[in-house]
Amino acid sequence: KDGLMLMNRVRNGVVAWNRSMSVVPTTKLFINGKFVDSKTEDWIDVHNPATNEVVTRVPKATEAEMLQAVASAKEAFKKWSQLSILSRQQVMFRYQDIIRKNMKELAKSITTEQGKTLIDAEGDVLRGLQVVEHCCSVTSLQLGETLPNISKDLDTYSYRLPLGVTAGITPFNFPAMIPLWMFPVAIVLGNTSVIKPSERDPGACMMLMELLNEAGCPPGVVNVIHGAREAVSFICDNPDIKAISFVGSDQAGKYIYERGSLNGKRVQSNMGAKNHGVVMPDANKENTLNQLVGAAFGAAGQRCMALSTAVFVGEAQQWLPDLVLRAKALKVNAGHVPGTDFGPVISAHAKNRICDLIQSGIDEGAKCVLDGRGLRVPGFEKGNFIGPTILTDVKTNMKCYKEEIFGPVLITLHVDTLDEAVELINENPYGNGTAIFTTNGATARKFTNTIDVGQVGVNVPIPVPLPMFSFTGTRGSFMGDAHFYGKQGVNFYTQVKTVTQMWRESDVTHSKAAVSMPV
Ligand code: NAD
Repeated sequence: KDGLMLMNRVRNGVVAWNRSMSVVPTTKLFINGKFVDSKTEDWIDVHNPATNEVVTRVPKATEAEMLQAVASAKEAFKKWSQLSILSRQQVMFRYQDIIRKNMKELAKSITTEQGKTLIDAEGDVLRGLQVVEHCCSVTSLQLGETLPNISKDLDTYSYRLPLGVTAGITPFNFPAMIPLWMFPVAIVLGNTSVIKPSERDPGACMMLMELLNEAGCPPGVVNVIHGAREAVSFICDNPDIKAISFVGSDQAGKYIYERGSLNGKRVQSNMGAKNHGVVMPDANKENTLNQLVGAAFGAAGQRCMALSTAVFVGEAQQWLPDLVLRAKALKVNAGHVPGTDFGPVISAHAKNRICDLIQSGIDEGAKCVLDGRGLRVPGFEKGNFIGPTILTDVKTNMKCYKEEIFGPVLITLHVDTLDEAVELINENPYGNGTAIFTTNGATARKFTNTIDVGQVGVNVPIPVPLPMFSFTGTRGSFMGDAHFYGKQGVNFYTQVKTVTQMWRESDVTHSKAAVSMPV
């Protein structure tokens, strides 16, 4: 089945069979509107996380290829930035339609390379598609400001203009959504773009390029290079790249923010997280437990907004056994198997790291009330599976609390009051997301007012804002000034030019130069 899918993608020009590598296809670069074979000798294997079979090989693009991609974006910028805004809008109208029609194909690629379930992979595409849909309203989003008669016969107006060549560097966990947070916003505003997708699952991004061609986007407006740290450093240093959007881990995010900023670029870095869900004893028990389980274990916990830490307040702690029962009932299997709740984690390395963090929790005194290590999935014995795992009695000085686990592991803490819960969360260095479960409006209001986290849910476990707002993670989860998509995304990808003009009906001739400021 996977082979058939790959054949399909080969036919579509997304990947090519490389004869010297028997049946393993290679992923191409996308430069100036064409899918091209890399000349590199350095390749990265992409494994299907459910089987660990190699599904494609990704090139570490050569310096010359990366320069070509930037040159192509720079050249395309000349015409693209001058194209009428209505023409750019038309590309987005067509693009959103084409993505919607290809959601299932995109989802299949995501499941093969990333491991999440097919339905969750469609959600991955949908959340990116919503950004493209929002980009269709660029005619309102890019409006400038005017103020006539600011002084006698003097008007001031400002435009929002593109920056030039922009770049995007993306993580493995949302192979469609996160590239779609970046290049559609950049290009609809008149920029061009160079994307470096995650080297662990580039397939969906390549399909998105194919669809972009179909939507009539001119060659060079978006280009894709592949690689790891060297490609990232190239992007940080290349003087023709004016802005970098990054989503991924803390280590890479800080490196890119610092190196890119030092080179005078705008950088927005969305990084790691530790999202707490506060469970009040007055919450709707049934809904809360279901929401907690869904948000902790969905996508095998590999979401930056996964609700990975539950804070039970007072008597809510007594719901733990029910929580365990619900988590235990989840079905773990390969993502394409019907009825699967969540699939494998991305790699054997990630699996080991997660298992080590679970063990560290036990060693430091936490109780493992549900242990998913050692899970075997019949038919997929080589896959990177971990079953749902719950650690209780966790303390804030434990490694499993301090580090982002990014796996199907829910850790739980217990406090006596809402104030204690708020204090605990505010002391955590991350500020990506949080949620409270309660039926009391005053409790919810107090929580939203006092919590120092950028995205807050009230009876909403994963409060990711839709694209008319922006993705507003804060503190340790974000570096930069303007967030992704929404108005802040527009600000990130534009610079303001302000024109002050004077037109008088009859010319006034000044007898001498005015050397002092007007008073
Ligand atoms: P990652 O940092 O390993 O990789 C992200 C990108 O950075 C990739 O393209 C990779 O090639 C590059 N990269 C990796 N290590 C690098 C290094 N040392 N130097 C330079 N570049 C490097 O992240 P990942 O494992 O793919 O993704 C998971 C992480 O992303 C988690 O921490 C998760 O919380 C975070 N994430 C955050 C958000 C958000 O919006 N805050 C969204 C999704 C994922």
